[in-house]
Amino acid sequence: MKALVFNGPKDIRYESFNDPIIRDERNLVVKVLNCSICGSDLHMYHGDRIGKLDYSQPMQHFCTGHEAIGEVMEIGSGVRSHKVGDRIVISGGAACGTCRRCLAGQANLCEAYRTGAAHGTAYGISPDLNGGHADYLEVVNADLTATSIPEGVSDEQAILLTDALATGYYGVKMSGVGPGDTVAVIGQGPIGRLAAEAALAVGASAVYAIDPQASRRNMAQTFGAIGLHPDEAVQRVYEDTRGLGVDSVIEAVGVGPTLTQAVKMARVGGRLSVLGILQANTSMPLHIVQGKSLVVHMGIAGIVDSWPELIPMLQSGRIKGEGVFTHHFDLSDGAEAYRMFDAQEDGVMKLLITP
Ligand SMILES: [Zn+2]
Ligand SMILES: [Zn+2]
Repeated sequence: MKALVFNGPKDIRYESFNDPIIRDERNLVVKVLNCSICGSDLHMYHGDRIGKLDYSQPMQHFCTGHEAIGEVMEIGSGVRSHKVGDRIVISGGAACGTCRRCLAGQANLCEAYRTGAAHGTAYGISPDLNGGHADYLEVVNADLTATSIPEGVSDEQAILLTDALATGYYGVKMSGVGPGDTVAVIGQGPIGRLAAEAALAVGASAVYAIDPQASRRNMAQTFGAIGLHPDEAVQRVYEDTRGLGVDSVIEAVGVGPTLTQAVKMARVGGRLSVLGILQANTSMPLHIVQGKSLVVHMGIAGIVDSWPELIPMLQSGRIKGEGVFTHHFDLSDGAEAYRMFDAQEDGVMKLLITP
C-alpha cells in the first residue's frame, strides 16, 4: 500500500509500506476513508518529544496519522461489534480494555501500555502502532476503540471524534465547567476552538476564546464565544469579572507564556485544564497557582470515554464543529500537507487527507 511515512523530522514521505495484517483476534483492518493531521503531530514533525518518544533520534519508520475514519475490510475472529463494510470512527489512541484503568472508564490511562504488555497508546506516533495516513490501517482492540459512524454525524464530525473534539471536551470536563460558569480558552486552534464550543454546550455563560489570529477569533464569535487577542485578554476578563477572573481556564497551547496567562485569568479557587502538549522544562508560575488555590489538571484525553456524551450532542446539534476543516489533500500530497499545516499558511485550521 501507499502511506505517509515518518523518515525523520520534517521528512514525511509518500511511499510504499507493508500492508497491515491482523495481529490479534480482537483487531480489524480498515480501508482508510479520511485521516486528519493534528497539532500534536507537529511535535513529531519538529523533532520534539511526546512522552518517552524523542523524534530527534533515529527510529524505525512508521505510518503517521491518528485521526482516521475507515471502512472495515477484514475482522479478527474475536471482534463482536463490527462487520465488514461498516464505516467506523477510530479512536486516536488504543487501549487494552481489560486493565483496571480501562475498566474504570479511563482508557486513556490504560496500564497495559505502561507495563509494556500492549502496543503504544496512539496511532501513528511511533513504530509500535502504524497510523492512518495510509491506504489501510490495523485497528487494535476494535470493540473498545472504534464505533460505527453514528446516524446524524457527518464524516467531518466523525473525524473530530477521533481526537480533537474529544480532547477539547476533556478540557471542559477536567476544568469542571458547569452551568453559568465563565470560561477562558487559550488558543483557538482546532482543539481550543472545539473546547470553546463544548463549554457553551454544557452551559457556560461566557466563553472567552483567545488567539492572536483574527480569523480564529472571528470563528469563535460565530458560535457564541467572545474572541479576544492575547494582549487584551487578561484585562478584559478582569473587567468583566470585577477583577476576580474566570471560573475555568482551558489552556490549549502548552508553552510558558500561555500557561502564565492561564494562571492569571483564573479566579481564586478556580480550575485550570492544560491540553497543550508540554515539552521538557516548560514552566508556569506555581506560586500563583498555590496562592489562588487553583485546581490544575494536565493530561491526555479520554477519547472513547467521551463518545457516549459527545455523539448525542453532535446528533442534536448542540455541538456542530463547523468550519474546522479548511483544506483537503490527497494522500500522495501528504508531505505538502504537513509542510503547509506546519507553516500555518493560507489560514489553515485543520485538514483532511484522503487516500
Ligand atoms: Zn490528534
Ligand atoms: Zn487497559
